Amino acid sequence: MRTPLIAGNWKMHCGPSEAQRLALDVRNGLLGSRDDVDVVVCPPFVSIAAVREIVQGSALGLGAQNAFWEVSGAWTGEVAAAMLGDAGCEWVILGHSERRAHFGETNDTVRRRLHAALEHGLRPIVCVGETLEQRESGITETVVTQQVREGLEGLEGDAWARLTLAYEPVWAIGTGRNATPEQAQEVHRVIRATLGELAGAAAAARIRIQYGGSVKPDNAAAILGQADVDGALVGGASLQAAAFLAIVEAARATRA
Ligand code: PEP
Repeated sequence: MRTPLIAGNWKMHCGPSEAQRLALDVRNGLLGSRDDVDVVVCPPFVSIAAVREIVQGSALGLGAQNAFWEVSGAWTGEVAAAMLGDAGCEWVILGHSERRAHFGETNDTVRRRLHAALEHGLRPIVCVGETLEQRESGITETVVTQQVREGLEGLEGDAWARLTLAYEPVWAIGTGRNATPEQAQEVHRVIRATLGELAGAAAAARIRIQYGGSVKPDNAAAILGQADVDGALVGGASLQAAAFLAIVEAARATRA
């Protein structure tokens, strides 16, 4: 059985002091609970060091929101995958739709970032998902399958075991309009079938596929209860400890 993974994508919210306060509330909220759900927070780069102080030695994991493939050099504004482990990160989100839409990321750049992340010992969360226009044109499956195939090209061996996918329909991100549990399950099923073709059925059965897109405490249980949904990537609701912890609880309830 796959352990659910609930990850908070704090996006461009929470400078170091605010990030410490939020991380502390999440960390304290997890104290004493069973460790049957993996929980991670992904603050902005500038707040990683501050959050590391809070999460060190606790059950709460730490991730970044992107990683560059070069190890060092003249790449103003980028942060190397190689630097993130040193900064205390175990996890990294890659290919988020906001990166694809606003910063020109493609399946090819996602793939390059992914290989670097794996090479430097990180646990990547690779995001895929269709736009509203693509869904309405009936090409969701084609788009998502292509993102998975091209983004994950060249992965082999142990790399599959460290990988998480996040299905995030673009039209559901930050809009308050979540995919229905059935819509989520249908795309997750397709993603797992594609993973089966790439990695083999046994590896595919172990890879976690999160859903992301307006997950809130009141819709989490239904979405997380789907057979191929193995957790959530949470944006807005991860900025309030109580809401985020309620989503963690909803994930835990699927284990009962
Ligand atoms: C996200 O940023 O990955 C996300 C899913 O955002 P939200 O939960 O706000 O839709």
